Amino acid sequence: MSARTINPGSTIGVLGGGQLGRMFAMAARRLGYRVHTLAPEHDTPTGQIADVEIVASYDDLDKVRAFARGVDVVTFEFENVPAEAAAVAEEEAIVRPSGRALEVAQHRIREKEFLSSHSVPVAPYVPVRSLSDLVDGLRTLGRPAVLKTAALGYDGKGQVAIAAGTDPAVAWEQIGQREAVLEAFVDLEREISVIGARGVDGETSFFEPFDNTHANHILDVTVAPADVSASLAADAIEATRTVLDELEYVGVLCVEFFITRDGRLLANEIAPRPHNSGHLTFDACRTSQFEQQVRAICGFPLGSTDLIQPAAMVNLLGDLWADGEPAWKAALSMPDVKLHLYGKASARPGRKMGHITVMAPTASEARERARAARRLLHPASVATR
Ligand code: AMP
Repeated sequence: MSARTINPGSTIGVLGGGQLGRMFAMAARRLGYRVHTLAPEHDTPTGQIADVEIVASYDDLDKVRAFARGVDVVTFEFENVPAEAAAVAEEEAIVRPSGRALEVAQHRIREKEFLSSHSVPVAPYVPVRSLSDLVDGLRTLGRPAVLKTAALGYDGKGQVAIAAGTDPAVAWEQIGQREAVLEAFVDLEREISVIGARGVDGETSFFEPFDNTHANHILDVTVAPADVSASLAADAIEATRTVLDELEYVGVLCVEFFITRDGRLLANEIAPRPHNSGHLTFDACRTSQFEQQVRAICGFPLGSTDLIQPAAMVNLLGDLWADGEPAWKAALSMPDVKLHLYGKASARPGRKMGHITVMAPTASEARERARAARRLLHPASVATR
């Protein structure tokens, strides 16, 4: 049963209600699927596009069971769906990717052990389950280091930097005395990501690496193609292929990598879903990461990942709304700007509200144009013109 093709007209269930689910739902509906979504909130970014929006907690296993029973295949748009919810869904429906992928990606210790055991290099780390583990770990790894909670961390949440003068007891307190990993601080040259897909028959396909710049631990700008050597790009793609194959994965995933100043490639994180750094594929690639996810989980051949033109994406965070409505007209006066907004009602600082993609003859030109468009959105820029 698990290898059967799920034809257009069938129903795809998405656990999660954010922007990744929204863009997935757009791609699915374009291909003629129906989409149901389940998330704890009402009127979510995904719910606004889906045919049916169920409001329920992921811990409400009866609701999750009924949801899975009502669809042909279940997928996720974020990785922190509890393992029990994934297991219940698997009893009722085909679930792609499987709960196993979530289990690995949800937990930084399991993730690092998985990567290392398959010869994918990671930054030096030690598991930390107590203050004395932390003190011993600092002795082994030295300082500076980064302490990260094992579960439920993203966008720099659940992380503490440990510098020369930091008291380990304070750091341990700050992350809530929860199971964690201590990582050596990596001297970064840049960060890249590889988004890959694996189909039901084991076929794989990859977008060329993207270059990512963060601000306050949150992705700020992605540029394609990344300016890395062909051999580094090939190594990153091979590492991503290993992850897909070893997890017997079906669907799209992203591996984030650090490139150190001495030219080494270290895997940082696996995201078992489409990824923020792949948003530019919507406009700039022959197949978007979201269409690729639909193709993979429905048992179809994967689409071309060709980049049509160099491109850049900038995130639009809630901070942009601090002084009022952003100046949409000003940014859209640049005819090459593609504006994506996620339909979120409240613009809290740090909240991902939308993004802008620009394509250009070169990657650096695309980056400059995308950043210029974002600057135009600041209401202050209108006042001063
Ligand atoms: P993460 O939540 O692990 O993706 O970390 C968020 C961001 O913090 C990364 O994208 C890096 O910019 C930075 N970071 C995380 N871990 C390290 C490290 N070990 N060394 C240097 N920078 C790091």
